[in-house]
Amino acid sequence: MDMKAAPKHKMGLKERYAAMTRGLDWETSYQPMDKVYPFDKYEGIVIHDWDKWQDPFRLTMDAYWKYQAEKERKLYAIIDAYAQNNGHLNVTDARYINTVKLFLQGVTPLEYMAHRGFAHVGRALRGPGPRIACQMQALDELRHAQTQVHAMSNYNRYYNGLHDWRHMYERVWYLSVPKSFFEDAVSAGPFEFLVAVGFSFEYVLTNLLFVPFVSGAAYNGDMNTMTFGFSAQSDEARHMTLGLECIKFLLEQDPANVPIVQRWLDKWCWRGVRLLSLVAMMMDYMLPKRVMSWKEAWEMYFEEAGGALFKDLARYGIREPKCMQQVRLEKDHLSHQVWTTFYNYGAAAAFHTWIPDADEMDWLSQKYPESFDKYYRPRMEYWREQAALGNRYYNKTLPMLCQTCQIPMLFTEPGDPTKICYRETSYLGDKFHFCSDHCKEIFEYEPEKYIQAWLPVHQIYQGNCFEPGTDPTAPGFDPLAAVLQHYHLNFGRDNLDFEGSEDQRNFAAWKGAVTRNQVG
Ligand code: FE
Ligand code: ZN
Repeated sequence: MDMKAAPKHKMGLKERYAAMTRGLDWETSYQPMDKVYPFDKYEGIVIHDWDKWQDPFRLTMDAYWKYQAEKERKLYAIIDAYAQNNGHLNVTDARYINTVKLFLQGVTPLEYMAHRGFAHVGRALRGPGPRIACQMQALDELRHAQTQVHAMSNYNRYYNGLHDWRHMYERVWYLSVPKSFFEDAVSAGPFEFLVAVGFSFEYVLTNLLFVPFVSGAAYNGDMNTMTFGFSAQSDEARHMTLGLECIKFLLEQDPANVPIVQRWLDKWCWRGVRLLSLVAMMMDYMLPKRVMSWKEAWEMYFEEAGGALFKDLARYGIREPKCMQQVRLEKDHLSHQVWTTFYNYGAAAAFHTWIPDADEMDWLSQKYPESFDKYYRPRMEYWREQAALGNRYYNKTLPMLCQTCQIPMLFTEPGDPTKICYRETSYLGDKFHFCSDHCKEIFEYEPEKYIQAWLPVHQIYQGNCFEPGTDPTAPGFDPLAAVLQHYHLNFGRDNLDFEGSEDQRNFAAWKGAVTRNQVG
């Protein structure tokens, strides 16, 4: 508006905030409030007074746009400079780019899903305080998705595996793990979504996703990822506070909310932990220059920081998530088990895999004295020997997947790393399989939800992952090749070993071209 009216008095921050948020709200009169907001009661959560919602940042929309625009200007200036100066040649080595591929394929689509989720949930809540907070977070998440796509588009000009990430996210087996995590959250009720994403994901786990990726980027010379990471991190601080505020609000409103929230915390901590197994592998195996081990990160960010948080919530009757004991037993094994699985299935992944070199194995022995030399080093040394003899083995069979987390059954029994952990249950005459007691319990609480899971392996066996016109009965039919076509995965360029890959060759040649004169 151009019209200028002299204000009677200048409003203080608090007053202004109240006018620009609560003051914009009204009670409906043509329709009952329950019909306008049909979703905020069915989960059993009782809210007596929406005004008790405290907004930690007291941010109004006009101030929000100003801050975000400033961040965008700085970020895009750096992204442009990075692209113009061939910044990609400053990374430690081209193996590093595979972490960027994993991020773009598996995390960026989640940012977009978070955007949609918060937009939806904001509409579903009848209190104006959380509604506005959700609106801002929905916009933040959209910005995160966009800045990541823009930042990483530069790598797509030079490296394989980044060309069709959105298409891959909907189809590729390992990407159904993050996808199903978020679809579980957005298809839940509004309060469960807030606890799932706002609390378990943003508050408890964000440090273990963002910090390793962003500090990993800094350690490995990737200014690009580091910059969008920092730009997102200032939003994350707001999201973490919102997540914590949300849970305290629910717990303070009514004692009946406590057991519901506890069940969500148990469920979403576990789902988050399973999702983080990709980060564990990234930290211990994919960064040429490592920041810290997965185990150290887990102890620092979850056991210490998360432990303090659950002590703080104890006064409401909240206890530690149930999965803590199992995670303690898994932390010495997780990254090794996941990376060896990807090494096995390296023909079906849209990034490269490799066996760590001698120095890297020594680092792993030192970081994992209880487990690496005993269980994993011999396996990897054997595979390296075999590869040197020309027997590089790519597993082409399809693994059984957990019905809940959708990860192949690769995890071992808690306390026995020599035995794969299988659980099963029957529902309506069908048998379902799980990687753990926790995934089984999540299923058994809401079987109607999880029997609908789109499991990549089942879909392949049912013939739903071939391009139209494919004839699986044709002589010499190669199912893997047909599935990779459906994934838009370029065989021999996007997948297989890093050693001998086009990425490796190109990087070496380009590096050579900037440091030496070329002959001939
Ligand atoms: Fe985000
Ligand atoms: Zn599972």
